[in-house]
Amino acid sequence: MSTVQLSVREMTVRFGGVVAVAQLSLDVTGGEIVALIGPNGAGKSTAINGLSGFVPVTVATMSVRFGDDVVDLAPLSPPQRSRLGIVRTFQTPRLIPELTVWQNVAMGSVAGDVRRRWFEMLGGPGLSRGARDRRDRAVTALAALGLDRLAQDNPGELSLGEQRLVEIARAMVSGARVLLLDEPFAGLSSVEQRRLADEIDKLRAASVAALLVEHNLELVRSLADTVVAMDQGAEFARGDAATVLDSHEVRERYLGE
Ligand code: ADP
Ligand code: MG
Repeated sequence: MSTVQLSVREMTVRFGGVVAVAQLSLDVTGGEIVALIGPNGAGKSTAINGLSGFVPVTVATMSVRFGDDVVDLAPLSPPQRSRLGIVRTFQTPRLIPELTVWQNVAMGSVAGDVRRRWFEMLGGPGLSRGARDRRDRAVTALAALGLDRLAQDNPGELSLGEQRLVEIARAMVSGARVLLLDEPFAGLSSVEQRRLADEIDKLRAASVAALLVEHNLELVRSLADTVVAMDQGAEFARGDAATVLDSHEVRERYLGE
């Protein structure tokens, strides 16, 4: 499979007078995990919203390269971006209450008209071959996260941490080439955190390009290749994980040193 690279240059997002993201530039290459860290309100979720098309941005360039093909993301809607393999998770899980857990995962990132069709296919009686394949992949992904026992449940019966893991399983089976994870570890038990960290680590071998927004700096240290630290919308440190996390600027802002 061709190498994937997400690139954004000088992305700015304004809400009225608030500059939530100021001229952020990032490259995330397949097989790499880039972490975006920063205090609450730094603009991390907004950066993910900008990359996935959920908020309007001003940007010099925003593109994804698949081998030699470069696709300009700026004009594309969120469903068009997800069809390209740019898949995100939300800080607050968004699962479909009418579907079981495995059906939610099997939906993957399908959107728009296709989503309606999958909804009918997975929800109806009897499963086509394609739907069975999707179910098997969904159950395998759930098992990796220790959730196979919940496959037939409704999302509403799950804890917040479990719902978050289901959303991540969904992103993982969607065939994502670029995965944007917004605080995926929040609200998880330590056992769940370890399972999820293992799964995120495996994205490297699958050549997925992962952008990880995370508060827990020890998890960031163990997972990320590159760390970008931001505050009030603007980047203030960038480099390999150990260098950034041990830097004076980051320690000062996080620990008040
Ligand atoms: P983080 O994820 O780093 O905690 P956010 O990206 O959620 O930070 O928020 C960055 C800034 O943008 C904050 O000042 C927040 O209040 C503001 N903001 C985020 N989303 C919106 C929105 N939809 N409308 C108005 N302001 C927003
Ligand atoms: Mg956030």
